[in-house]
Amino acid sequence: MTGYLSNAPLGRCCTFLTGGRARRLAFCYNISELAEAAAGGALVLGRGSNILLGDAGYDGDVVINRSGRRSFTPDTCECDSGVLLSALAREYMQLGRHGLEWAYGLPGTVGGAIVGNAGAFGGSIADSVVSVTVLSGGKIKTLGVRECGFGYRHSDIKGTVLSVILKADAGDRESVKLASEQNILRRRELQPLGASAGSVFKKTEMGSAGELIEKAGIKGLGAGGAQISDKHANFIVNRGGALSGDILQLINTAQAAVFDKFGIELKREIKLYGDFY
Ligand SMILES: Cc1cc2nc3c(=O)[nH]c(=O)nc-3n(C[C@H](O)[C@H](O)[C@H](O)COP(=O)(O)OP(=O)(O)OC[C@H]3O[C@@H](n4cnc5c(N)ncnc54)[C@H](O)[C@@H]3O)c2cc1C
Repeated sequence: MTGYLSNAPLGRCCTFLTGGRARRLAFCYNISELAEAAAGGALVLGRGSNILLGDAGYDGDVVINRSGRRSFTPDTCECDSGVLLSALAREYMQLGRHGLEWAYGLPGTVGGAIVGNAGAFGGSIADSVVSVTVLSGGKIKTLGVRECGFGYRHSDIKGTVLSVILKADAGDRESVKLASEQNILRRRELQPLGASAGSVFKKTEMGSAGELIEKAGIKGLGAGGAQISDKHANFIVNRGGALSGDILQLINTAQAAVFDKFGIELKREIKLYGDFY
C-alpha cells in the first residue's frame, strides 16, 4: 500500500472530477492491504464512478482499491474487488466466457458493482455471483449469493468486499463478442460524453427517471459548471470547472421538479460523501 498522503485532493478519485480533500488518502494494490485499511476505518472507493464527494472535503481516511488479481477455472472467475469490471468483461469476451456482456464499458470496479448490484441492458452482476468474500465486523466471511440480498441496484452486503467468485461459463466466442460490442455501442449512443457518475437516480415505479426529468422540463438545465445532460436527463455532467455543490443543486432541483409534477420522489443511485458547503 502507498503511505497515507495527508490533506489529499479527491477530485481525480471520482468520475465527476469534483470534491475537496480527504484528511488522508492511500492506494492499495492487494486485498490484504485493502482489509487492513478497511479495518482501520478507511472509506473504500473503487473508481469513484457512483459517488459525489463534498467540496468541503472528507474528514477521514480514504483508500482507493486497486487490487487486481484474477484467475479463471473452466466455469468460474475468482477476482479481487479492485478489478475494473469493464476490463474483466473484455477478458470474458476474449476468452469466450459469457455473463458479463452487459458490463462492457462500465467504468467501476467489481467491488463497487457488487455492493450496488450494478447492471445494464437486462443483466446485473447478481446474475453472475457464486460467492462474495467480505470483511465485516472485523471478520472475513464468504457469502453465498442468497446471503448477499441483491435487489435492483442494491445489496444487503455490509462491510468491505475483498474478492468474488463469478460464473464464467464457456460460450460461443463470436456471440459473446457481438453482444459485448453491441452493448458498448448502445452506451455510446445513449450516454453523454464528459465527466459524470452515470445515472443519478434509480428507476421509478413510473419508469425511467430520465424521462420524468425531461417531462418536468429541466433537461439541459445548468448550475455553475454542471448540467443536466441534454442527451440523457438522468445524467449530470461536469462541463468543466463544476463544483460538487453545482451537481448537488441540480440533484435537488430535479427531485423537486419531478415531485411537483408527478408526486414521485426520485431516489438517488449515486452516494454522497464528505461535507458540502
Ligand atoms: C459513464 C458511466 C456509466 C455508468 N453506467 C452504469 C450502468 O450501466 N449500470 C450501473 O449499474 N452503473 C453504472 N454506472 C455507475 C458506476 O459505474 C457503477 O455503480 C459502479 O459499479 C461503481 O463502481 P466503483 O468502483 O466506481 O464504485 P465507487 O463509486 O468507488 O463506490 C460506490 C460505493 O461502493 C462502495 N464500494 C466501492 N468498492 C467497495 C468495496 N470493495 N467494498 C465495499 N464497498 C465498496 C463505496 O464505498 C461507495 O459507497 C456508470 C457510471 C458512469 C460514470
